[in-house]
Amino acid sequence: MKQSKTFIPTLREIPADADALSHQLLLRAGFIRQHASGVYSYLPLGFKVLQKIEEIVREEMNEAGAVELLLPSLQQAELWQESGRWDAYGPELMRLTDRHERPFALGPTHEEVITSLVRDEINSYKKLPLTLYQIQTKFRDEKRPRFGLLRGREFIMKDAYSFHSTEESLDETYQDMVKAYTNIFTRLGLNFRAVIADSGSIGGTDTHEFMVLSEIGEDTIAYSDETDYAANIEMAEVNVEYTHSDEEMGTLEKVETPDQRTIEEVANYLEVSQEQCIKTLVFNVDDELIVVLSRGDHEINEIKLKHALNAESVELAEEQAVFELLNCHVGSLGPVKLPVNVKVIADHGIKSIRNGVCGANEDGFHYKNVNPGRDFAIDHFEDIRFIQVGDPTPDRQGTIKFAEGIEVGHVFKLGTKYSDAMNAGFLDENGRKQPFIMGCYGIGVSRLLAAVAEQFQDNYGFMWPKQIAPYDIHLISVNEKDEAQKTLTDDLYKLLRSYRYDVLYDDRKERAGVKFADADLIGLPVRVTVGKKASEGIVEVKFRQSGETFEWAKEELVDRLN
Ligand code: ATP
Ligand code: MG
Ligand code: MG
Ligand code: MG
Repeated sequence: MKQSKTFIPTLREIPADADALSHQLLLRAGFIRQHASGVYSYLPLGFKVLQKIEEIVREEMNEAGAVELLLPSLQQAELWQESGRWDAYGPELMRLTDRHERPFALGPTHEEVITSLVRDEINSYKKLPLTLYQIQTKFRDEKRPRFGLLRGREFIMKDAYSFHSTEESLDETYQDMVKAYTNIFTRLGLNFRAVIADSGSIGGTDTHEFMVLSEIGEDTIAYSDETDYAANIEMAEVNVEYTHSDEEMGTLEKVETPDQRTIEEVANYLEVSQEQCIKTLVFNVDDELIVVLSRGDHEINEIKLKHALNAESVELAEEQAVFELLNCHVGSLGPVKLPVNVKVIADHGIKSIRNGVCGANEDGFHYKNVNPGRDFAIDHFEDIRFIQVGDPTPDRQGTIKFAEGIEVGHVFKLGTKYSDAMNAGFLDENGRKQPFIMGCYGIGVSRLLAAVAEQFQDNYGFMWPKQIAPYDIHLISVNEKDEAQKTLTDDLYKLLRSYRYDVLYDDRKERAGVKFADADLIGLPVRVTVGKKASEGIVEVKFRQSGETFEWAKEELVDRLN
């Protein structure tokens, strides 16, 4: 592909509103553009990488015996009512009505559609097991779309669904899927772990998530170096309603705080020191324990409070600990996420207070002059357990550590949840009707693009691994006007393509510096530069990941690249 003919709008500046490195670089290197919050266009380079990722996913799914199809995005509300999710799914479900006022959803996932399809078409155990998959656009009206492709509102997912007549058969397919997922993420060169997804049932095998280890990850994993143990520390959602009376409000003063705030801005606004602000987010026990964070609605809450570092135990009464954790939340008193392995049920009245500042249960507002005890109190909570760094793993063979992870895949034994609700079943050997036993298996394909982008980069740009690079080789002529350079570059373009290399030929009339900077930014595995030594038939070859450079003659180039 000649670069002058394609569409690679690179940017010199770091886009101001891109918060993740992958997001910044995908924009800068001209791979994606934002259309609306959480909605993106994949430009030619981004689309190529996406297709390569899809191809790897496809190969491994096919190898595991799954069959590809394509289901509709536009889904009838009736199906969602049958499964009970029309109400349960909440505001994340994108709903719409057609011209006849019939309600529809834009599919966030496809359990309902596939269950109804298989219900209508399969009626005998003889046709089971069956695993179907698709790679398709999903819609979820995420509360906080962010980090570019990592959390979109329109995104691409591979989702597979398996149907079985026995638990053993489901077990088998589940294991095949775990294996396929492991192959996929390994082929992509990712640093990942399969973790137990439901930490409430530690040791359970009914659901696993595949986590790419990355600081930007929104999930927290407890794992151990000594054993295979790894689990997602589910963040329990506690709804903290603001309920106290006007009288109790005393001298509280409600102040507006800008939506996207840095610590400095908040501190200035609330006339407290930055240190005080930070303290509201971190709590300290015996100077050893710095516990975790809130990821609320505001920039300030994004500060990832660190996990318990080297702490043997927490000498805090649980009630006090919950209180402290809630205090961490200086944002609005909306749902607060607690970094504990808990079921917390708060009917009402858990409040966030510290240093006289607290959330006002309204986005972008806080109260000043808060008096703990007088103005707020914890009303109700139960069954709380903290997992600490250094705790033994459930098998007692290792000790627990924490890391952040990006959830790129999720495998789940659904059992008969949907087939019961939707009356979907088959006739067994004795002619008796039985519900399908089901599994579902998702991969965030567009999220994977960002996860890979997050991992393979340096200060200059991307460093794509061969298997998913948008092109194999970046071919550059330093001076388009130099006859010898031009001829040699044209020759090489033909030659390399005849050896099935996918080549991006920078034939633009740009300065060499611009071409090199763009080449580093785009990050193809190999750069072949035709410069001053063109008349001798010699080119410079640079490998993006290792940074090694060589001068090779045209004749030896193909052999050496192999
Ligand atoms: P998350 O916990 O990140 O919200 P999820 O558990 O809701 O994800 P699943 O329902 O398990 O997601 O969907 C399967 C996969 O789809 C996830 O493992 C993830 O890789 C991907 N995915 C989910 N939501 C998004 C999103 N908003 N943007 C991009 N990919 C997503
Ligand atoms: Mg989600
Ligand atoms: Mg999840
Ligand atoms: Mg999930």
